[in-house]
Amino acid sequence: MSNIPANNPNLKSWVEVPANSDFPIQNIPFGVVKNDQLTPRVASRIGDMVIDLKTLFVLGYLENLPFELSDFDGCTLNAMMRRGKKAVRDLRNRISKLLDANQADLQKNTHHLEQVLIPVNTVTMCMPVQIGDYTDFYSSREHATNVGMMFRDPANALLPNWLWIPVGYHGRASSVVVSGEPIYRPKGQIKPNPEEPPIFAPCRNLDFELEMAFITFDGKPMGDSISTAEAEEYIFGLCLFNDWSARDIQTWEYVPLGPFLAKNFASTVSPWIVTLDALQPYKVDTPKQEPEVLSYLKFDGQLSYDVQLEVFIQPENADETKICTSNFKYMYWNMAQQLAHHTVNGCNIRCGDLMGSGTISGSTPDSYGSMLELAWKGTKPLKMNDGSERKFIQDGDTVIMRGFSERDGVRIGFGEVTGKILPAK
Ligand code: MN
Repeated sequence: MSNIPANNPNLKSWVEVPANSDFPIQNIPFGVVKNDQLTPRVASRIGDMVIDLKTLFVLGYLENLPFELSDFDGCTLNAMMRRGKKAVRDLRNRISKLLDANQADLQKNTHHLEQVLIPVNTVTMCMPVQIGDYTDFYSSREHATNVGMMFRDPANALLPNWLWIPVGYHGRASSVVVSGEPIYRPKGQIKPNPEEPPIFAPCRNLDFELEMAFITFDGKPMGDSISTAEAEEYIFGLCLFNDWSARDIQTWEYVPLGPFLAKNFASTVSPWIVTLDALQPYKVDTPKQEPEVLSYLKFDGQLSYDVQLEVFIQPENADETKICTSNFKYMYWNMAQQLAHHTVNGCNIRCGDLMGSGTISGSTPDSYGSMLELAWKGTKPLKMNDGSERKFIQDGDTVIMRGFSERDGVRIGFGEVTGKILPAK
């Protein structure tokens, strides 16, 4: 893995990349763009420029790679992803080479450049993947402990299965949307007074969940399993993920079958999928797992990733306030264990499946990945820069999440995922 040419930290591009950009030549993420002139198409990004891969293919720069025009000419990344891990790795290496300061093939051809490089502020980012199935895990020990303390028993906050199983549930793909899509406040059954029957009303305790999500390549046939050693070969890349949650609806509905309407009204993804290949330099140890896990969950090497995460709330007509700093590396269960567990019973995964990490909370109160925890069930309201207070998310608030990895002067970022809450319809 360390011999991926596109990951070379010494690479420089002839395309200008602003300092602290999330998208240096070492990133080369994938997304789908469109505008008034351009039909939806697969693209990559460097600095503040989008690279039109459909046009790059038509102009012959992607020759001798196992792709066809239709892989780049469409509304999603799925056709490109279906070519598999090695093909996408070779594609990323080729794009890197075309942008390398030492390679003049594309740079010298100004007529082609005008067609291929497009300022990012002139395109609309589309939902990048047609998601088949969406699974959400619950893999942050700190988050599971905090929720257990608030809703059950502080002395037994973690349920007995949690340290043995990467707990998860099947979510809903139809309501996963791309960053920037406004979200209507959900309505449902809530029970504000424990002594009274439930009422039907707009959610009063609307929350975000700070998560990351990974997107899969095609898996194995039904009945087969993916081991922890194989798992990363089946992961295309990651994005930031805001798994919106209605806490009051959740509290009333979730026993015995778990999340339903409290979770399925909306989840928001960031538009650029950063490949797992690009994140290889940022691998770190997974937190120590005690008790020792069952054999199918054991793994070798470093399978967690150091991704710094931040959450901001921007009230209507006001500046944003940073409310949380966390890190993807805090996850107790890593992605390889999640995928091994998901398939251990023979469940098949498919190209374009989305796997959420679960809320990513750290150990300190400023690192909690949800309003539920940050404001501790409404008992510790957060102060905004404009003087207002928040226990949960209000109408007109925009929630913004940002994330990046940084090492040896190279920063691989995810951009941001944003969503504004509109009043209930
Ligand atoms: Mn979630």
